[in-house]
Amino acid sequence: MPELPEVETVRSGLARWLPGKKIAHIEVVHKGGNRQSSDRPFSAILGATIVDIKRRGKFLWFVLDCDCALVGHLGMSGQMLIRPKTSPDEKHLRIRIDCGDRKRELRFVDQRTFGWMAIDELVSTDLGEIPRSFQRIALDIFDPNFDRTAVIARIRRSKSQIKKVLLDQGIISGIGNIYADEALWLAKIHPERQAELLSESEVRAILRAVRQVMKRAISRGGTSFDDLYINVNGESGYFDISLNVYGREGETCRRCRERIRRIAFTNRSSHFCPRCQKPPRNKVAQKRPITRVRRATH
Ligand SMILES: [Zn+2]
Repeated sequence: MPELPEVETVRSGLARWLPGKKIAHIEVVHKGGNRQSSDRPFSAILGATIVDIKRRGKFLWFVLDCDCALVGHLGMSGQMLIRPKTSPDEKHLRIRIDCGDRKRELRFVDQRTFGWMAIDELVSTDLGEIPRSFQRIALDIFDPNFDRTAVIARIRRSKSQIKKVLLDQGIISGIGNIYADEALWLAKIHPERQAELLSESEVRAILRAVRQVMKRAISRGGTSFDDLYINVNGESGYFDISLNVYGREGETCRRCRERIRRIAFTNRSSHFCPRCQKPPRNKVAQKRPITRVRRATH
């Protein structure tokens, strides 16, 4: 599932080609691509010029020279591809956008239909204009206005487990299961530790780690294991990032050689090193005492 680094890779790819182009035609090939309810039809942006492509967390929007924006989310498997008009339609093509280019067009392809594109109106905020539906999404860690001190304080007020807090898009956006596991391993914090019991320096270390793992992934073009995930030109460029814990259950920790463990986390999993990432104290106390099996004497 695409997280911030993958979406950023898509955004920067789109931003190299789209600005300056005019939206000439939008065809909803399959309505699965337009799930989000919106009062405004796609025709509202016909003729508008694309000014920029922006991102907050995992959400993308096309800044247009009109009073609304084209917004989108890749969901689990969405791709935004810039394809030659002559190339055959992808099996899971949802939306086709003609940007007035003679040779190429933008295609939104999504196998699992959790992704969407829609028209949204813009609202003015202290940080400039943003699409209305993105108002509640917190700033991501790369946003120049990201308020580290406020976010640290907010995390430390939470009674939830730290991993759950990291995935809360209302606190920090853009972090998903993979980068949460990777960042917590790097910061040596167990995913089940209660956020309000973490010290300020531990939370600071976690945020530093989030930034570091995501920055590394962006510089390599996102993660790899999901072969549904293809970059903007349709080339798969996501095979060279090495993950330290995610998907490495049973393999050795690259720091201490202990075996990486996987535990259930909501309907997914958490991966961690049981030696580098010490479990929360209450967990230790909850551990069942070892019961001695008395040898039967006959
Ligand atoms: Zn370790």
